[in-house]
Amino acid sequence: MWRAHRVTHDAPKQRDITVSSRQSKFPLPNDGLIAALDIGGTKIAGALVDQDGVLIHRARRTTPARESADVLLGAVYDVLGSLAASPLWERVGAVGIGSAGPIDLAHGTVSPVNIPAWRNFPLAESVARHPDVGHRQVTLAGDAVAMTAAEHRHGAARGHRNALCLVVSTGVGAGLVLNGSVHHGLTGNAGHLGHISVDFDGEACPCGARGCLESIASGTAITRHALALGWQAPLTADTVGVAASAQAGEAAAIDAFDRATRALAAGIAATAALIEIDIAVVGGGVAQAGEVFFEPLTRHLRHYAAMPFLKELRVVPAELGPDAGLVGAAVLASAGDSAVPVMLGHGSR
Ligand SMILES: [Zn+2]
Repeated sequence: MWRAHRVTHDAPKQRDITVSSRQSKFPLPNDGLIAALDIGGTKIAGALVDQDGVLIHRARRTTPARESADVLLGAVYDVLGSLAASPLWERVGAVGIGSAGPIDLAHGTVSPVNIPAWRNFPLAESVARHPDVGHRQVTLAGDAVAMTAAEHRHGAARGHRNALCLVVSTGVGAGLVLNGSVHHGLTGNAGHLGHISVDFDGEACPCGARGCLESIASGTAITRHALALGWQAPLTADTVGVAASAQAGEAAAIDAFDRATRALAAGIAATAALIEIDIAVVGGGVAQAGEVFFEPLTRHLRHYAAMPFLKELRVVPAELGPDAGLVGAAVLASAGDSAVPVMLGHGSR
């Protein structure tokens, strides 16, 4: 049965989607493990994750992002098969997926921007059909929401009842913690900070809007802006190179980080004003630049988060690094954390 974004494998003729609760109906034993998948445009990562968020056994494939939907699913099955080959597999109580979005929790489908062959692809159900998954529940979440769950449970947002967690890499993703719980939103896409406009007359964004945060603050945008300002890329033109040049005091590189972090500060401050948070956690490849990123971000945030009730707002680096997606997918699967307020029925595929 496909229950909200949890799927079990006892597929009856008629599949139902029903309202889920926030409490898992099948609590894991203390030594239980979660099989976690993190699916993105460049890699499909998998791991067996314990209750402390420790990755015990890993598997990984390059995403065949330009291939057909079936070839892509085959790569996911390869990763699942590698995990299932572990003697620890019998301790696995559930499967959690974090996927590049947009996603649709009500139907368990994904349409990742960087994976063109998957449009409304029934990922949760397909994973549930893997023979080794058996009757285990399958939970789906967006990758940034998964990262948020990881940082909230085990990382820099621990102990905060309200938080914003961002991933700044080739794109900009984010997720929200509200009143102590990760907030999925109606379809699982809440926290899409990359596509809020911070420049309403700005450049057209592929999403259809203008001046989206992602088009100014992503790693891709930082590199493009640095080059436009005359930055001479040492070898390959990427954010690591821009960060190195900024560290060395090169003006074009410093300006590129300044513009990106100003846009991010505006987006973070707007979010904070809207929902009242006291912490923004930033991870992803661009945040790895360290001080050349966090110093201007913190400075600009003081400027944009101007209201007195925002004076406690802090921005801090993420703690979990590139495994946050896997850890978060496991956290969400372990808690059975989802609430999709729909009740639908649809026939078997
Ligand atoms: Zn956009």
